[in-house]
Amino acid sequence: MSLKFYNTLSKKEEEFISIEDSNVKLYTCGPTVYNFAHIGNLRTYIFEDVLKRVLEYNGYEVNHVMNITDVGHLQSDADDGEDKMELGAKRENKSVLEIARFYENAFVSDLKKLNIKLPNKMPRATEHIDSMIKLIKRLEQNGYTYMANNNVYFSIDKFKDYYKLANLTMDELQAGSRIEVDEFKKNPLDFVLWFGNSKYENHILKWDSPWGVGFPGWHIECSAMAIEYLGENLDIHCGGIDHIPVHHTNEIAQSEGALGHKWVNYWMHGEFLVVDNGKMSKSNGDFLTLNKLIKDGFDPLVYRYYVLQSKYRKPLSFSYNRLRDSSKSLYSLKSKISNILNNIDNNLSIDINKVIPYKNKFKHHINNDLNLSNAFTVLFDVIKDNDLNNLEKKALLEDFDTVFSLNLLESNSTILSDEKLNYIEYLIKQRNEYRKNKEWEKSDNIRELLLNEGVKIEDSRNGTTWTMI
Ligand SMILES: [Zn+2]
Repeated sequence: MSLKFYNTLSKKEEEFISIEDSNVKLYTCGPTVYNFAHIGNLRTYIFEDVLKRVLEYNGYEVNHVMNITDVGHLQSDADDGEDKMELGAKRENKSVLEIARFYENAFVSDLKKLNIKLPNKMPRATEHIDSMIKLIKRLEQNGYTYMANNNVYFSIDKFKDYYKLANLTMDELQAGSRIEVDEFKKNPLDFVLWFGNSKYENHILKWDSPWGVGFPGWHIECSAMAIEYLGENLDIHCGGIDHIPVHHTNEIAQSEGALGHKWVNYWMHGEFLVVDNGKMSKSNGDFLTLNKLIKDGFDPLVYRYYVLQSKYRKPLSFSYNRLRDSSKSLYSLKSKISNILNNIDNNLSIDINKVIPYKNKFKHHINNDLNLSNAFTVLFDVIKDNDLNNLEKKALLEDFDTVFSLNLLESNSTILSDEKLNYIEYLIKQRNEYRKNKEWEKSDNIRELLLNEGVKIEDSRNGTTWTMI
C-alpha cells in the first residue's frame, strides 16, 4: 500500500520512496534547552512521533536523530537578540550548562509522559563543535562564506536555490523574519556560521576555531549533526512551520552548499498550536507546559489524544474546555475498550478475513499524509461492529494503538471524566469533615482510597490540593 506525505519542498503530496529499502533516515529539530517546552512545541514532537510510528507500521526501521541546542541560539532565529541559553542562566542564576542539562532532562521526561519514542540519538550542540567547524571549512572551500567583523557569514547570493523551500521572494522572507540591520552583511538574509568575539565579548561558551575564538551560529548545528549521524542523504527532515523561512531554508543552503548535491528528499512541517487566537510562544513568559496540564488534573495522554484528533498541517486551537472534552471522550473510549477486554470468552478465535479489511482501511488513512481523524473513525467502527467478536476487536485495537500510542488497552484510572472529578471532590470534602472531627483513621482511609485512584493529596494552610500521580 502506498504511503503519501505532503512535502513542503514540492508543495504537494508525494508518494514516499525511501533511499534504502527498509531503513528511513529521519532528522527532526530538537529543543533549545533554556526553558521548559510549551505544549505548542510538544504538538510538533507528537506529530513527528506519529510519523515515525506510521513508518514503522509500514515495516520501515527508522533511524531518528534529534539535536539538543545548548549553544548559539539567539532570541531571533535570524542572528539577533541575546543568546537564549545565557538568558536562561541569568534568569535562574545558574551556569549555562546547568540550565542546559536541567531542561534537557525535563524535555526527555515530557516526551516519555506523552508516549513519544525517544530518538536513536540526541546529540548536543556543545559536543559537536568540531563537526560544525569542519562543515564551515567545507563551505569556505566551496566559496560560500565571507568574513566580516570577526564573524563568518554565509552568502546566500552564492547559493542559487536559496528560496526553494519557503517559496517566497527575498522581500517576503525579509519581512517575515524581522531582521535587525547588520551593516556587515552583504545581503540582509545572509546568516552567521561562526560568531567571533566582537559582538559577544562576554559570551560564556566559546571555542577555538580557524576564525578565532567564538561560537557557532544556530543553523549550522543541525546540518553538521544530521550529516554526521545520518550521512549525506536524508529521507525526511521535520520541524515546526516557523522553521521554514529561516532555519530550514538556511539548513538547506549550508548542507547543499557543502555537499554539492540535494540533501533531504521530504520536508515535513507541523502547524502551530493556537491559544486565544495567537501562536503559543515563550517570549511573553506566560506559556503552558505539560506539567501545568498535569497539575491541573489532566493525564498527559489526554493532551496526546487532543493533538491526534486534528490534522498536523492545520492550526489547532487550544482551550481547557476542549481539553476537558478530550478527557471525557478518551475516558469513554477506554471504558468501551475495557468492557470489550473484560468479556473475552476462552473459546473465541480470530477470523483473519474479518480483521484484514479493517487493518487495510486503517493503514489507508494513516498512509494518506497521516490522516488520523479517519483512522479514529475506523477504530470506532471496530468497537461498534457486531460481526466482530471481542478477541478480534482486541487484536485490532492493539494493532491501531501501535500508532496512536494512547495506552488504549490499559486501565482507565488516570483519565478524568467529570464523574471522576466529582468523585474526587466528594472524597476530599468528606475527608476534611473527618479531619475536623479528629477522626484520623477514617481520614487516612480516604487518603489511601484516593491514592489507589492515582490521586495524591496535600494539605496546607490554604486547604487541600490534589494531583494525579
Ligand atoms: Zn534544526
